Amino acid sequence: MSAGEIGEAGEWKNSTFHEINCKQGQIVVYYSLESGGSRRIAPYSPVGTASGGEREIIETFEIDNLQITLDKEGARAYSKVSFPLRYGRYAEIKSPDHLFQFNLNGELKFITGMGNGWPSRSEWLKRTITNDWVYYSAGGYDGPYDCFGEYYLPCLSYPTNNINSHDPFNDNAVISAIGAWDRLHKKLTQLNLDSLPLKVREFLTMVILNSPDELHKRSGRIYEIIGDHITVLPPDARHVDYDVIPIIIADGCLYKCSFCSIKSRFYFKERSKEDIKRQVRELKYFYGSDISNYNSLFLGQHDSLNTSVDLVEFAGQYAFDALDLGNSNIEGPSLFLFGSADSIIKSDYGDFERIDKLPYMTYINIGLESADQETLDRLGKGIPEQAVERAFAKIVEINRRYEHIEVTSNFVLGPDLSDGHINSFLRLMEKHFDHPFHKGSIYFSPMINAENIGWKRHIKREFYNLKIRIPVPSFLYLIQRM
Ligand code: SF4
Repeated sequence: MSAGEIGEAGEWKNSTFHEINCKQGQIVVYYSLESGGSRRIAPYSPVGTASGGEREIIETFEIDNLQITLDKEGARAYSKVSFPLRYGRYAEIKSPDHLFQFNLNGELKFITGMGNGWPSRSEWLKRTITNDWVYYSAGGYDGPYDCFGEYYLPCLSYPTNNINSHDPFNDNAVISAIGAWDRLHKKLTQLNLDSLPLKVREFLTMVILNSPDELHKRSGRIYEIIGDHITVLPPDARHVDYDVIPIIIADGCLYKCSFCSIKSRFYFKERSKEDIKRQVRELKYFYGSDISNYNSLFLGQHDSLNTSVDLVEFAGQYAFDALDLGNSNIEGPSLFLFGSADSIIKSDYGDFERIDKLPYMTYINIGLESADQETLDRLGKGIPEQAVERAFAKIVEINRRYEHIEVTSNFVLGPDLSDGHINSFLRLMEKHFDHPFHKGSIYFSPMINAENIGWKRHIKREFYNLKIRIPVPSFLYLIQRM
């Protein structure tokens, strides 16, 4: 490549050649423009084969020690990788100490530390749509994949059944990164942006409007639209990094178990189709331009499988069309919902045939908790162990029959449960599997409370002892809210 070829691209003819770097298969061209007050840098990234073909040009602009890059394209499908990977389209601002990444509405989504104090370059902070911070830990030498099915461990900034003894939100570098976002926002409001191209000014104007205070206020709006808080997302939502659009098709749940800390204040009741349409309409407006970075829905709340299949089908298809999920920047739409022992028992296979035909991979998570009557009674679950056995048999059958549905199940894991709990679980495994099967993950929810806090140290060991005897994928389940 020569500087002349770059000039032929047109708008950069009056530029001064600066530097070429070739690293990891990417040709990155840096040069300065004579016009304008800002230095302009153009990483020139080949897309496709090395022999030529279509090339995408990514521009980076610099002002006051900040490098701003728009129109970045992340991966087009979710995948399990052991390095930080962004999905869909986004923009970023790099300061000497932090990398800030923004969604298509100019709302902050990720921060990564660049300085020495940052725990690891493969770790980052994510701000969720409801304005929670989640720290993604690579897990050190004790990699988290076997435990959680992901190459990172999400550390939450609010109380949950987290098994970590280390809290990254006490780490000075992490505290400082969150503070750096406030400082960056203040700095942007004080800059003279006039010398920057229009599209950069438009982006920075959006970032300035989405101040930390504004993002906090905006987070409450989503609950106003859907009419409740989402206190827990299905564990399967990890497949899309919990980036789901929530639509409530039924409030509440059937059982009101005494051990449950996330239950809804409502009794089970279906929403109307009109209400679902309203939610979709208002959510489309709420997510704005960034809706093109979503490909997945969560149909809440705690037992959507207990609604009529008509309602599941209607909500899934209506939202898919209205939100244009088929044209998302991320391929492979997914649908997530919770179910219960009773709702899966009473559903007939015709219902699942209809769900299987929806334009999604559908994940249904069933809270079974235990196959042991004594444990179910202790948990205040209100179902007999025979119901758990029947539900589990149906789960296995659905996973075998339907290509686009995976039904997963939850069991509890606790320090003071009876021996019957684990023994009955292992009997269930022996009864239903004579060889390993790739679908139907089983999640174990650690029961952690103030009295058994010391047990945290033993959870992984207990879980691994169990995991090697389970013929389907099995993981720990850390409760994560929307
Ligand atoms: S565990 Fe599930 S069914 Fe039981 S109260 Fe909680 S949300 Fe409802």
